[in-house]
Amino acid sequence: MEWKELEEACAKCDRCSLCQRRTHLVFGDGNRQAKLMLVGEGPGEQEDLQGIPFVGPAGKLLDQMLAIIDLDRKDYYIANIVKCRPPQNRDPLAAEQEACIGWLREQVKLVRPKIILCLGRIAAQRLIDPSYRITREHGQWVQKGGIWMSAIYHPSALLRDESKRPETFDDLLSLRDKLREVQQEN
Ligand code: SF4
Repeated sequence: MEWKELEEACAKCDRCSLCQRRTHLVFGDGNRQAKLMLVGEGPGEQEDLQGIPFVGPAGKLLDQMLAIIDLDRKDYYIANIVKCRPPQNRDPLAAEQEACIGWLREQVKLVRPKIILCLGRIAAQRLIDPSYRITREHGQWVQKGGIWMSAIYHPSALLRDESKRPETFDDLLSLRDKLREVQQEN
């Protein structure tokens, strides 16, 4: 599938009940040829209203954090595990993730990233390991299917608990190093 076909098909998706409440489906944003892909769990209120991922308070914090390592949206592609907002920002249910993950798989096939950074536990458990423990394993790198994968705390968690920010800063420095590494391979 090509981007246009994928985006048009996804826009009509009713594979799970989250379609019933959405204002906008939040497909993805950023550079479709980037080496880096960021994956969060699902849209929040602002994302649902605007149809763009990570544009609310958590997204603004994410932008600030990535700016520290000189990254902005032209440097990565960003999407979520589920494309429609779960009510009251609850975690997406396993069945909703299962229904939606195919869209993300198609996005990964088209972007062909060298690195995937999961934003938070839900994405890490879905993409890295179902038993992933974000408190213990954030910042660690694993390679799956030729893609380097890691996770950091979700920016919403960093808004709630500022004490996690220094270790996230270390994880971002590690991301910067990994990006340099994959850039040198080409
Ligand atoms: S969350 Fe995903 S699977 Fe569910 S309706 Fe939205 S796009 Fe479809």
